[in-house]
Amino acid sequence: MTKQRFAPTFSTQDDLAARQLDGLKWTVAHAYRGSAEYRVKLDAAGVTPDDIQTLDDLNKLPFTTADDLRQGYPFPLCSVPFEKVIRIHSSSGTTGKRKNLCYTQKDVDDWAHFFARAYEMAGVTEADRVQIAVGYGVWTAGVGFQAACEKVGAMALPVGPGNVDMQCQFLVDLQPTVLCCTASMGLLMAEEVNKRGIRDQIRLKKIIYGSERASVSMRKKISELLGNAELFDIPGLTELYGPGTGIECTDHDCIHYWADYYILEILDPQTLEPVPAGEWGEMVVTTLCKEAVPLIRYRTRDITRIIPGPCTCGSILPRHSRIKGRTDDMIKFRAVNIYPSSLDATISGIDGLGSEYQIHISRDKTERGIMRIVVERSETSDESQAEDLARELIRQVKKQLLVSIQVDVVPYGTLPRSVRKSQRVFDTRIQDEIVG
Ligand code: ZN
Repeated sequence: MTKQRFAPTFSTQDDLAARQLDGLKWTVAHAYRGSAEYRVKLDAAGVTPDDIQTLDDLNKLPFTTADDLRQGYPFPLCSVPFEKVIRIHSSSGTTGKRKNLCYTQKDVDDWAHFFARAYEMAGVTEADRVQIAVGYGVWTAGVGFQAACEKVGAMALPVGPGNVDMQCQFLVDLQPTVLCCTASMGLLMAEEVNKRGIRDQIRLKKIIYGSERASVSMRKKISELLGNAELFDIPGLTELYGPGTGIECTDHDCIHYWADYYILEILDPQTLEPVPAGEWGEMVVTTLCKEAVPLIRYRTRDITRIIPGPCTCGSILPRHSRIKGRTDDMIKFRAVNIYPSSLDATISGIDGLGSEYQIHISRDKTERGIMRIVVERSETSDESQAEDLARELIRQVKKQLLVSIQVDVVPYGTLPRSVRKSQRVFDTRIQDEIVG
C-alpha cells in the first residue's frame, strides 16, 4: 500500500478528542481577541475563553448563522488584521448580500491539505489526470479542486463548467481519468459522451461530484453511461473553507469528514438540542484552526446524520451521511414536511423511471395545494408503460410520504440538463412574505 501523505496524524479517539479540545480553546480565545463581533456575541452569552475546559463546554457557546455573515458585510467575523488576509472568496446569497469570507495563508494551506486528503481517499494519485469542470472565480470550487489536485501531483485540466465541446475534446485528446463536477454536469457529460459515440475513446474512471445532491438512480445512470465509473460525493461549503471537507471512501458507505479540522454537531433544527446518535438533524460546525474567519457553532442548514461505528475501509475518520437536503429546501405541503431527497429515493426505487424529475407545486381554485411531479421514464422503457409507471409513483408517494400527488411521465431526455445545478422544485404558491 502506498503511503498516505495527507492522512490524519491522530491514531485513537482519545487522541482526537485531546486535539479537538486544544483547537476549541484556541478558536474561542482567538475569535474573542480578534473579532469585535464575536466578542459581543460571547459576552452576551456570558462565556469567556477561560470557560472552555472540556469538549462538553461547546454547548455553552452561542450559535453563528448566515445572518451574522451578512450583517458583518463586507468582511464579516474577520478575526485577524487585514495584513494577514491573502484572499477573499464569496458565496452567492440567494437573498440579500453575498457572504464574503477572508482567508490567511495558513487557511489556504490547510484547505489544500485536507482537500488533497479527499483526493487521496478517492484513490487519486500522481498518475491521474483531473478534468475540473466546476466554476472558477470568486467561488471556492475551482481554485479548491485545482490547488489540491496540484498538491497531490496529479495533472489538472482546469476547463471550468459548461463548454461541452471542449470538455469532450479534452476527454478524448488528453485522456483524463477523473472528472470533477456537479451531479447535473456529470449526467450531462455522461449523456453527451454516449450521444457523440466517444465512450470507447475516453479513459474516465472516477467522477468526484459536489455541491448538489444526486439520487441513487442518477448516480447509477452516470456510472453506467461512463463504463462503470466510480462516483465520489464530496461535500463542503464556502464558510467552512470550501469544498473538500470530507469525501465518500472507496467502500462507498457514506462520507468521512475531517474531525481534526472541525467539530461536527448534529442538532434538532427547532430545539437546537443534540439528536440521538445516528438520527437526522442540522449540521453545526466549529473550526479548530481556521484563522481569518473561525466558525463557532455555525449553523450550516444542511441536514445529515452521524454514522456510528467504524467504516469497513479501516479509516479512523468519523462519518456522516450524504447531505439529505437543507433545512430551507423542505417543502411544506398540506401540513406534511417533505424533503426533495425523499422523492429521489421513491423515484429511484421504481424500475422504468429515469433519474430526472421536477416538482411543481401550485394551488387549485379552492386554494388547496397541488403537487405535480414531472418525471422522465428510463432510456429503456417505452411510452406504453407510462401510465402504469405514473400510477405506481402515485401509489408509492402516498404510501411513503402520505400525500396525494399528480404525475406526468415524459420521455427520456425531455427535461433540461444543466452544467451547474438543476432546478427541481417550482413552487408557485403565494409565499407569506409577499403579503403586505
Ligand atoms: Zn470508509
